[in-house]
Amino acid sequence: MERKIPFCRVRCNGNELAYLNQVLETGWLTSGPMVQRLEAEFARKVSSRYAFAVNSGTSGLHLSLEALGIGVGDKVIVPTMTFPATAEVVRYLGAEPVFVDVEYGTTLVSPSILRHAVDSYPDVRAFMMVHFAGQALDMLPANGDGIIEICRRRDIKVVEDAAHAFPARADGHMVGSIGDATCFSFYATKPITTGEGGMVTCNDDYIADRIKLMRLHGIDRDAWQRYGSSNSQWEYDVIAPGYKYNMPDLNAALGLAQLERAESMRSDRERCARYYIERLGSLHCVDLPVVRAPMADHAWHLFTITLNESAPIGRNEFINRMTDRGVGTSVHFKPLHRTTYYRDRYGLSPEDFPGAEKTWKGSVSLPIFASMQESELEYVCEAVWDILRGQ
Ligand SMILES: *Cc1c(COP(=O)(O)O)cnc(C)c1O
Repeated sequence: MERKIPFCRVRCNGNELAYLNQVLETGWLTSGPMVQRLEAEFARKVSSRYAFAVNSGTSGLHLSLEALGIGVGDKVIVPTMTFPATAEVVRYLGAEPVFVDVEYGTTLVSPSILRHAVDSYPDVRAFMMVHFAGQALDMLPANGDGIIEICRRRDIKVVEDAAHAFPARADGHMVGSIGDATCFSFYATKPITTGEGGMVTCNDDYIADRIKLMRLHGIDRDAWQRYGSSNSQWEYDVIAPGYKYNMPDLNAALGLAQLERAESMRSDRERCARYYIERLGSLHCVDLPVVRAPMADHAWHLFTITLNESAPIGRNEFINRMTDRGVGTSVHFKPLHRTTYYRDRYGLSPEDFPGAEKTWKGSVSLPIFASMQESELEYVCEAVWDILRGQ
C-alpha cells in the first residue's frame, strides 16, 4: 500500500474551536464583533490603515476595482498566469483585461514586461498583479525602477492579488501595505483559511469607505450597527447598488485563530521549500522556482517545479505517476490565454506569451503545507527522482 500525501492538509489545532465556541455562545453568527477583531488584527499584521473581511478573495478583487472607479471599457492589465478570478472581476465591471506574459522561473510580471505593456496601451487604468506562489513582484527596488514606480508615473492604479502572499514581504514592506488595494484569499487551501473568505487592505480613506459601503448592499450602516450593538438603531439608507460580500463571524473565528499561527506556518512551509531545493536541485530535468528575494520574504504558498526539455516524460504523465504513488499535485495555472472564453474574446495566441507557455508546459506544484513531516518530504522527493530517472 503506497503512502498518501495530499496536495494540501489543513490543521485547525490552535484556538479555532475556542473562538468558534465564543461565536456560538453569543448567537451572533453573521458579521459582528469577531469580524471586527479579525480586521483589526489583520491590519496590524500587514501594517495597513484599513482591512475589510469579505466572503472570498474574488469578492475582494471585485470590490477593489469598483472602489478605484474601474468601469465599462477601462483597460486593466492582468497576467495570463493566474486563477480565473483575477480576470473575471474585470469583466464584472464591463472593463477589458489586457493580458501580459510572465517571466520564466519566477512566474511573475517583471518590470520590463509591465513597461512594455504600458507603452503599448498608454490608456491602461489599473494593474492587477499576482504575487505568484507567495513571492512578491519587484515592487520597490532600490534603483527606483520597480513595479510601483512604473504605475505611479502613469497614474495606473495598483491592485494586488495576494491570494498566495500571506504573510509576505516586498523590499522591506509587508504585502498589504503597498498598493492602492491588496486582496487576500482565505479559501481552504490558502496560507490561512476561514473555509471561504478573504480580506482587502488599503490605506486611502475614500477607497476604504467605498469598499465598506459596497461590501454590504450599499447600505450606510451594517447589521451589527443596526441591531447588534448597544446603541443600535433600525434605520438605514441605500446610497449605491452594492453587493453581498460580507464575512460571517463563524468564518472570522477560524481566521483569527489561523492568523495567530500565520508566521509559524509560513516558516514551516519555508522549511519544506528548503528541503525541496536541497533535495531536487541536482535533478537536471527539473527547473526549480527562482527566488529573487530573501527566503523569509516569501509566503511559500506553492512549490512549483517545471519539467524542462530534458525530462524523460511529460508533465501529465509525471502527474499520473505521482498519483499512482499516492502523492497529490496540482497545476498553477492553465494560462488564461488557453481558456476558451479569454482566447476567443480577446483573440489571444500562445506565441504572445512565451514565458507562460514555457512554464505551463512542464509546471507542476508539489505538496507544501505547515504540518508536512520530513518523512513526507523525503517520500515526495524520492518519488520525483524515481519517476524522472525512468524507474
Ligand atoms: C485562490 C485565488 C483567488 C480567488 O480566491 P477565492 O477566495 O477562492 O475567491 C484569486 N487569485 C488567485 C491567484 C488565487 O490563487
